[in-house]
Amino acid sequence: MGNHLFDLVRARIPAPEARFALIDDGRVFSYADMVAASGRYAGALVALGVKPGDRVAVQVEKSIEALMLYLGSVRAGAIFLPLNTAYTPAEIEYFLGDAEPAVFVCDAAKAQALKLYADKAGAKLETLGVGTGSLLDKAAAASADFADAARGADDLAAILYTSGTTGRSKGAMLSHDNLSSNALALVDYWRFGKDDVLLHALPIFHTHGLFVATNTVLFSGASMILLPKFDPEQILKYLPQATCMMGVPTFYVRLLQDKRLGKDTTAHMRLFVSGSAPLLAETHREWRERTGHAILERYGMTETNMSTSNPYAGDRVAGTVGFPLPGVSARVVDPETGKELARDEIGMIEVKGPNVFKGYWRNPEKTKAEFREDGFFITGDLGKIDPAGYVHIVGRGKDLIITGGYNVYPKEVETEIDEMPGVIESAVIGCPHPDFGEGVTAVVVVKSGADITAASISKALDQRLAKFKLPKQVFIVPELPRNTMGKVQKNLLRDTYKDIYA
Ligand code: ATP
Ligand code: MG
Repeated sequence: MGNHLFDLVRARIPAPEARFALIDDGRVFSYADMVAASGRYAGALVALGVKPGDRVAVQVEKSIEALMLYLGSVRAGAIFLPLNTAYTPAEIEYFLGDAEPAVFVCDAAKAQALKLYADKAGAKLETLGVGTGSLLDKAAAASADFADAARGADDLAAILYTSGTTGRSKGAMLSHDNLSSNALALVDYWRFGKDDVLLHALPIFHTHGLFVATNTVLFSGASMILLPKFDPEQILKYLPQATCMMGVPTFYVRLLQDKRLGKDTTAHMRLFVSGSAPLLAETHREWRERTGHAILERYGMTETNMSTSNPYAGDRVAGTVGFPLPGVSARVVDPETGKELARDEIGMIEVKGPNVFKGYWRNPEKTKAEFREDGFFITGDLGKIDPAGYVHIVGRGKDLIITGGYNVYPKEVETEIDEMPGVIESAVIGCPHPDFGEGVTAVVVVKSGADITAASISKALDQRLAKFKLPKQVFIVPELPRNTMGKVQKNLLRDTYKDIYA
């Protein structure tokens, strides 16, 4: 049968000595090194008793070793289950209890605090850091020759927990084919080739850094520059050696604040990709002015991998996430009836294709509730498809505000506010209101020294939006709360302002 995912990776290795990764500590990994190291990790896992279908849960800092553990887990036939490095021991207890992994790998510094939870979940505890750890020692002692476990297209390769932006994180079951079909589609759509060098500064516990970034490199025989985290200084240092970068919108916002960013620093670059959170049209415009590059924005989810993308050759339209990827179908429906809507009408975005996951781990009811009978997955994101076929996201269904019986799409109000001179960004939320159900509320970040107040924002909106859409209160704050993927945490804002209309 072979190993569906890793066989495809092997088949695309350009040459054993070709570079796979340059690490910021100066180490270089060739493709032969990648095969040997991942084979050793696979061997170490099997020696620990890991069998095909077992979960390997991992909460470690980003490193080449951690990437090799991902590939080793795939080759051992296990289900890789990476966990956000920010999770607290109490959260880890929940995830381990939910996933019941055979092995749990963590940083040595956390081992003592987490041992109890690993024991409770029946998992063997191992440690891994950059160049150290009990698992690293076991891998070093294992043979580099590993006979990959047989795994088919529909066998699970990973369980990835969602970011927890709207509530408790859910475990999305992803098959070998979910990952490989998406990697192949992206390599083709974004024209990745063996001469590409990807600047990799994203975390690897999330779909963006682990699958979109890593798998596109592996599936095109390209190479990456692996940085432990996003640091503008490091990005500018390594940019001259790269051809592509993938980032969350905050990367672009922060880089624009650096005067060294310009046409000459980026002239040799082929592609800048953004996703995981909405990129402001303003950022897209500024980036283009400063560098000459149009950022390519795409849309995906933990559950679906990547679903849509702006085109490589055609117009990359700011504020849109482009077209469904080849093989992926996307539609916009009335959330209540499920009936497909006409172009430009706002409704629920639904997607179907080989990219869409196999369901939520140990949660068949939720899985059932999120799929239509014809196989479409209900994303929870609201949006529209314009007459040219571009998909626009207007926000999450859970963020929709219903005030006095009227629907208000936060994005529409945010766009009006963001266009005002002196405004950096905004978040519009609904807060409990005794008369209206919810009251539209705007939280705004302004440029320092800008001549703008909550009252002037309200006044300016007055002429631009229907009365029911107008914020009943406007707050000016120094910054919006964001999680590690750069997503605005509207649930935190709703909590902060929950009593303002009481
Ligand atoms: P949870 O499901 O646990 O609440 P989450 O949805 O933030 O968390 P992810 O799977 O990491 O977890 O994120 C997927 C979501 O990110 C999408 O549903 C969408 O709302 C948002 N997103 C991703 N890319 C874009 C984009 N280009 N523009 C706007 N939103 C995006
Ligand atoms: Mg989600």
